[in-house]
Amino acid sequence: MKNNYRVTIGLEVHLNLKTGTKLFCGCRNDPSGEPNTHVCPVCTGQPGTLPVMSREALSKALTAASALGASVRPVSVFERKQYFYPDLPRNYQISQYKQPLAEGGTVEVSGRKIRINRVHMEEDAGKLIHEKNGSLVDLNRSGTPLVEIVTEPDIHSPSEAAEYLRTLRQIMRYCGVSDCDMEKGSLRCDANISLSAPGSELGVKTEVKNMNSFRSVEKALEYEVSRQARVLGSGGKVTQETRLWDDDNQVTKQMRSKEEAHDYRYFPDPDLPPLNVVSAEEERARASLPELPQPRKRRFMNEFGLSEYDASGLTQEKERADYFEEALEVSGPENAKKLANWILVELTGKVNSEGTGFTEHKVSPPLLGELVGIIEKGTISGKMGKDIFEKVWDTGRSPLEIVESEGSRQITSEDEITPLCREIINENPGLVKKYLNGKETVVGAMIGEVMRKTGGRANPGLVKETLVRLIREK
Ligand SMILES: [Zn+2]
Repeated sequence: MKNNYRVTIGLEVHLNLKTGTKLFCGCRNDPSGEPNTHVCPVCTGQPGTLPVMSREALSKALTAASALGASVRPVSVFERKQYFYPDLPRNYQISQYKQPLAEGGTVEVSGRKIRINRVHMEEDAGKLIHEKNGSLVDLNRSGTPLVEIVTEPDIHSPSEAAEYLRTLRQIMRYCGVSDCDMEKGSLRCDANISLSAPGSELGVKTEVKNMNSFRSVEKALEYEVSRQARVLGSGGKVTQETRLWDDDNQVTKQMRSKEEAHDYRYFPDPDLPPLNVVSAEEERARASLPELPQPRKRRFMNEFGLSEYDASGLTQEKERADYFEEALEVSGPENAKKLANWILVELTGKVNSEGTGFTEHKVSPPLLGELVGIIEKGTISGKMGKDIFEKVWDTGRSPLEIVESEGSRQITSEDEITPLCREIINENPGLVKKYLNGKETVVGAMIGEVMRKTGGRANPGLVKETLVRLIREK
């Protein structure tokens, strides 16, 4: 049924900006912690207090806008959005409405450009904590700075919506704008979704709220696609309303009929002058952007010959991409592919199993670069490399130093290997006979013997070469 309809989705994402203070007062921007410990007369809405905008919040919001390629308006205006809710002590939220901070921009998702409608700043509300005998208000979050990023209705499937969110999170984390942690509430997403028959105008949309993970955004939208298709398919009409995602039952439920903008009685906040962003500030935000994940991925592919899989794995987080480039200075660019493998498999595996942060361990980038370098030079074997890696992880010592001190340097000299091989050949006449009768795979067993005698230090390639030469010479 749903295949007959075109799905149209627009997303509104709120990001809690990573700043020291709240948006309009000096309280710490830390929604966690003991309830009501980061509060003051301003963010609790006491009469007679005045808001003063945080420059840091503006600078982070400008960074977000620049990273999306949005154009910053020379003048934007803070307005009051009036509504009553127990966690909103002033009975209005300071937001931007008619003149937002920035407009336009795009996010590229699987080669398609999703257009951004607007980027604006606003303050967050507090939080209600529901208990058995009533509800409590925690105002630690009240007045913390948010940036809201609204897309055009350019998204056409629930999976594309999830992909957009992942990409947006990646970009915003790269720029240090926000932690973008949906479970902790520093990224929140509301979705508008409608279905329409092919070629006809956009259908009536519903708004879906209360999703707590990317997975639940996707699930909630899939549910809405089926529900709306069922309504339309049976000749009914979709009602414009706000629906809440119920994660336990995996359904959306009606919350309220959708309010219109005029219900909020927006008007410019007389306590805050219009915000003039001079071009120098915008310029500074743009100039201080790091290389963003998508261009960085393409550069890794072009410059180092990495596969798309490796390049996208490395650029997933800025820390990992930075780590790679720093390690590469030591390993040499000719070992880029090998280094990528070590980072994506060994190091990431270890970091995950130990539960440390990506940079919170003793294997600094130069140490891993050095390790990969000496493996590729043949100083040690790949197998030994894994043991050395564990030792570097535990001690933070240089791999080369560990190799020297333990005498575990790989044996690569023919003078050392030849007598060993001769010994093995003499001890295994049966295997030699088989080899000469055409069963060449038996050489593997003899290589194993030499490796055993050297504690795994002999270069296996050279051992094989030597064994074959000696057998043929016989
Ligand atoms: Zn405060």
